[in-house]
Amino acid sequence: MSKIYDVIVLGAGPAGLAAGLYAGRSRLSVLIVEKGQDGGQISITDEIENYPGQIVDQPESGPSLIARMTEQAKKFGAERVSDTITEVSLEGEVKVLKSAKAEYQARNVIIATGAHSRPIGCKGEAEFTGKGVSYCATCDANFFEDFEVYVVGGGDSAVEEAMYLTKFARKVTIIHRRDELRAAKSIQEKAFKNEKLHFMWDTVVEEVGGDGILSEMTVKNVKTGELTKIVADEDDGMFGVFGFIGTLPNSKIYEGTGLEMDERGYIPTDADMHTNIPGVFAAGDIRVKSLRQVVTAAADGAIAATQAEKYINELK
Ligand code: NAP
Repeated sequence: MSKIYDVIVLGAGPAGLAAGLYAGRSRLSVLIVEKGQDGGQISITDEIENYPGQIVDQPESGPSLIARMTEQAKKFGAERVSDTITEVSLEGEVKVLKSAKAEYQARNVIIATGAHSRPIGCKGEAEFTGKGVSYCATCDANFFEDFEVYVVGGGDSAVEEAMYLTKFARKVTIIHRRDELRAAKSIQEKAFKNEKLHFMWDTVVEEVGGDGILSEMTVKNVKTGELTKIVADEDDGMFGVFGFIGTLPNSKIYEGTGLEMDERGYIPTDADMHTNIPGVFAAGDIRVKSLRQVVTAAADGAIAATQAEKYINELK
């Protein structure tokens, strides 16, 4: 019979690590289960300048901020295991989480499995992923040193990552489906001042292609319907396309478990992070919420862990 934890936290991004910290600090037995590296989406973020307490002209990288969060959760007693949960049973008093190699049990589960990049949705995308198409500037920017790069999207991620890419690429063009960015005004101001950054408005990507490596792309003007073929500079022989058009929740494994989700797979909670199942909480980007930021994820995790403690006390 495996140990029954007070709390199992699924996911070690800012929400999960904050939950681990708060649960550990409340002397609850807590296990954080993470399938990849800690940090979730911010582990691939170059600069974070809006987490409270950061010095504005010394922005910190995602991995560096996360390393401190991981250390802090560990210091307060949170255990951590690397594993991929494939099956969950959430409705009983004891929740059971299974992977290919183990079974974990807990009285509370805090779901903090976050979200992942939404695919661009054009023809050829899957074939050219890793061969010119990417969703992570921090991971792949150096492959495009002195090449041309296109960034799809108009939100905070697209504009910030496009600016990061200008440190590597010769020219970066943002392709946005409207004629106005969604990104925060402060981010836009910096972007419009960046001479290496260009904009292709009212445009979507229809198809990407090439001979093994990405070297051509067809884009469509959504107002006129006009199609334009973009071909890599002859000397370059390739270019990059980075997709930053929002995210989709990592919530597939909760389908059919009785956990309520919206039509896109995000989990609704009340202000105290309760889901529809007693003892099951959701925190961070996987929740239905209006602001997906490190600070709101961390706050969700803290609230969820505090409510988990309350739930344990009520069970006694
Ligand atoms: P987002 O804010 O949802 O923006 C997605 C962008 O992609 C929008 O401009 C959208 O166009 C466009 N888009 C969506 N679907 C598309 C499609 N099928 N084809 C073409 N374009 C499409 O996503 P995000 O930028 O990844 O940000 C996610 C969350 O993280 C947001 O809450 C954001 O504020 C936050 N974030 C914050 C920071 C920061 O504070 N520094 C940094 C990164 C992310 P429309 O504008 O036309 O809808």
